[in-house]
Amino acid sequence: MTPDTDRNLQLFQRAQKVIPGGVNSPVRAFKAVGGTPRFVSRAQGAHFWDANGQRYIDYIGSWGPMILGHGHPAVVEAVQKAALDGFSFGAPTEREVELAEEILGLVPSMDMVRLVSSGTEAGMSAIRLARGATGRSKILKFEGCYHGHADALLVKAGSGLATFGNPTSAGVPAEVVQHTLVLEYNNIPQLEEAFALHGPELACLMIEPIAGNMNFVRASVPFMQRCRELCTQHGALFVFDEVMTGFRVGLGSAQGVYAKSIPGFAPDITVLGKVIGGGMPLAAFGGKRAVMEMLAPLGPVYQAGTLSGNPVATACGLVTLREIRKPGFYEALGAKTQKLMTGLKGAADKAGVPFSVDSEGGMFGFFLFDTLPQNYAKVMTTDNKRFNTLFHGMLERGVYFAPALYEAGFVSAAHTDADLAETIEMAEVVFKLL
Ligand SMILES: *Cc1c(COP(=O)(O)O)cnc(C)c1O
Repeated sequence: MTPDTDRNLQLFQRAQKVIPGGVNSPVRAFKAVGGTPRFVSRAQGAHFWDANGQRYIDYIGSWGPMILGHGHPAVVEAVQKAALDGFSFGAPTEREVELAEEILGLVPSMDMVRLVSSGTEAGMSAIRLARGATGRSKILKFEGCYHGHADALLVKAGSGLATFGNPTSAGVPAEVVQHTLVLEYNNIPQLEEAFALHGPELACLMIEPIAGNMNFVRASVPFMQRCRELCTQHGALFVFDEVMTGFRVGLGSAQGVYAKSIPGFAPDITVLGKVIGGGMPLAAFGGKRAVMEMLAPLGPVYQAGTLSGNPVATACGLVTLREIRKPGFYEALGAKTQKLMTGLKGAADKAGVPFSVDSEGGMFGFFLFDTLPQNYAKVMTTDNKRFNTLFHGMLERGVYFAPALYEAGFVSAAHTDADLAETIEMAEVVFKLL
């Protein structure tokens, strides 16, 4: 491919003139791995095609939403039908009620849910709700967990537990993050110390239960249990950001995974996105009735949205949820993901490359380490050069993994044995180059 014939390159150059960095969300620009982003022209099943007509096996799936694969016939039909009935009304619809009922039927920790349009919006609203419901200002989050780009959450750890965070983005005043405390993931002593110092002032603790924005790092069961206990003890709300893990790691989401090890386990507020929209802009947050009734128009916590509960998006989400709750769906999905992980690990072993893998349902992570990392600092010690060789080696061979070492990967129901075998075959070639 020469610059004259590379349509991806031509589109990227054109895009950079009119869109900052040529992209509408930073990770798409391939800045971490270098090279030219692939401009997608269409997708079907587990594959997409770029502007040059090259086909890729897609392990991103729009960063999680496409759990059924692209162009699932039942979803496409529902979206087409909904579009014919109107795009947006700014008035309630039956489908919103149906989707709310469907979500609540699957997430027992939630009595009520509010629909919004993005995970960022849902996370931001959940924090406002937690603050409104508790009458407290301070919030606690963990390094490496991403909860969308609301100002108060774009923050890294300060110099100690007594000091609150520092902004990670220009444009976020220090005053805006002065109530956000950032701790190390999976660090129980630090968590206990933070609650000892700030417990009575904490509105909530927000966590990605299986963090997918530092590749794939699970909160350990003892850590999760301690988070729950300390929140209860200090009257802080426990907010589960399941935008990525919700209906991705299992039908019971990540909270269902932890409830298997911790009897009676449940968060107070759950934030959902990605899968619940099936690829359309849709997200949600919900929890116990008493907390949710604090929201406008019933209560004093304001929250609104012109496109919230959009009729086309809810049609897409509803059919997606009805497909994934069919018997055996997650067993099959989990088996595919594990097959891929076992294959990649085998390929790495054959080439003598240190490698570790983990997965839950249709979400996975792999690391160029012998053992799985437990926190962000460790993930970020990954050898960038090696990761980039792996990424580009696979990309050239038609396999699209996340273009950054701190992102998770996703398998869909549409991935076939042939897709997995092809991926593993390519990995055997590429690991030898590392
Ligand atoms: C993707 C993601 C978000 C943000 O959702 P958007 O729809 O991109 O705003 C928030 N939290 C987690 C855990 C996510 O993975």
